Amino acid sequence: MKFYPTIGLETHAELMTESKLFCGCPNEFGGSENNHCCIGCSGFPGALPELNKKALELIIRAGFALDCEISRFTKWERKNYFYPDLPAAYQTSQMERPVCVGGGLEININGENKFKRLNRIHLEEDAGKLTHEGNKSYADYNRTGVPLIEIVTEPDFHSSEEVVAYVEKLRRILQFADICDGKMEQGSLRCDVNISLAPENSDKLGTRTEIKNLNSIKAIGRAVEAEITRQTEILESGGKIVQQTLKYNDLTGEITPMREKADAFDYRYMIDPDIKPVVLTEEELDEFRSRLPELPQARFERYKSYGISENDVKTLLSEKVISDFFDNAVKTYDSPKSIANFIVVELLGRVNRGEADMEKLPFSASDFAELQKYVDEGKVNRDIRKDILRDMLETGKTAVQICDEKNLWIKEDTGAVEAVIDKILAANPKAVEQYRNGEVKVFGFLMGQASKELKGSAAPATVKNILEGKLKNA
Ligand code: ADP
Ligand code: MG
Ligand code: ZN
Repeated sequence: MKFYPTIGLETHAELMTESKLFCGCPNEFGGSENNHCCIGCSGFPGALPELNKKALELIIRAGFALDCEISRFTKWERKNYFYPDLPAAYQTSQMERPVCVGGGLEININGENKFKRLNRIHLEEDAGKLTHEGNKSYADYNRTGVPLIEIVTEPDFHSSEEVVAYVEKLRRILQFADICDGKMEQGSLRCDVNISLAPENSDKLGTRTEIKNLNSIKAIGRAVEAEITRQTEILESGGKIVQQTLKYNDLTGEITPMREKADAFDYRYMIDPDIKPVVLTEEELDEFRSRLPELPQARFERYKSYGISENDVKTLLSEKVISDFFDNAVKTYDSPKSIANFIVVELLGRVNRGEADMEKLPFSASDFAELQKYVDEGKVNRDIRKDILRDMLETGKTAVQICDEKNLWIKEDTGAVEAVIDKILAANPKAVEQYRNGEVKVFGFLMGQASKELKGSAAPATVKNILEGKLKNA
């Protein structure tokens, strides 16, 4: 019998707010342990929670970006469970009235568009972090109470490719809308995948398992593959799938049980008497909508309209820092095509080789744009663009400083250029003859000889003009 996989995803995204969801503690990654905590987020009884308005705006922003319906009335419940990462022994979450309902997004698989539906997005608190060393465990509550949204899909996915395409697109939307930084390696975006298999023509879904806390897109793809294989083998040998929560080890590819799956009633959801439900007005929603940043799709169209190739557009949009850098560079020097080329070919080349970090560049987008402007204006030779960029990265100096110090400005001494070209033509009578007989390809050879002799001291356009003139008129 053939089995057909079905997958649903729960994605947790930490919101980019300054403070936590119900207290004023900073929402910051890292820092020394248990340093971003107060009696509120440490679970002391009696501390009064106050909802962070910015977090509410950001989940609604996610709702706009993902075409959800926004609940005009929304409320929170306590989700009770005992675990050392949760000092209050309950997590403030949403059950009955999540902020966002429905919605979805379209992914593209081999040229085919597929719409994947969302079930809901709700706003809850993150839990703390546990680390284990030998037989000791340590709890760090810096993350406890950080605002988290959970984006739940319908069981609409049927392959790891679809899942990966969805997470990539979702991550980019959250990042570009300034909702979540999308740093999966720091845990600010994490996915749980629910997987089941059913006989190919069955109209019922099979028993599902859930793999928790996958924190890279590659790991998500591999975990889905591994679990489909594991379940297929069990079913084909006549076994049954047990509904449970699993752990995936991306180094070994191994899947192991974590715990038996809790049903909703185990959490004893109850109203939180300290947190008022929120009633949203149309004015507030309009205000939030007016602050929605430009989304990746809109940037994609805009970049294409500049005449940048689709591949380069995709590269520029692969991370928000790159796209923002590009936009800022174009503000200084309005030549999107040449800026895009400079970023993709030179800057990202260095980033990929580990020689530069987009998040910590020692120069501004504006300094970067100036260098390209000098190249395009013929003030600096294109061939040394990459060397100047390297110096900028290494020294933090501007292009102007470097060109001044190293004497790299093109000297437009046309008399000197003419003298060099005369010399080259005299030394290569055969090539000159060939050119005049219509073999125009020797032009490149003569150009090369001239450039070699001039060592970047003249703009290529100038050399070309003079050389052409002399060949035609001599
Ligand atoms: P819980 O909160 O207990 O994990 P939900 O009903 O909220 O359960 O579902 C969680 C996710 O599991 C959703 O993304 C949903 O689409 C998916 N899901 C539910 N049933 C199945 C199934 N049989 N196979 C695959 N995915 C499923
Ligand atoms: Mg779940
Ligand atoms: Zn606090």
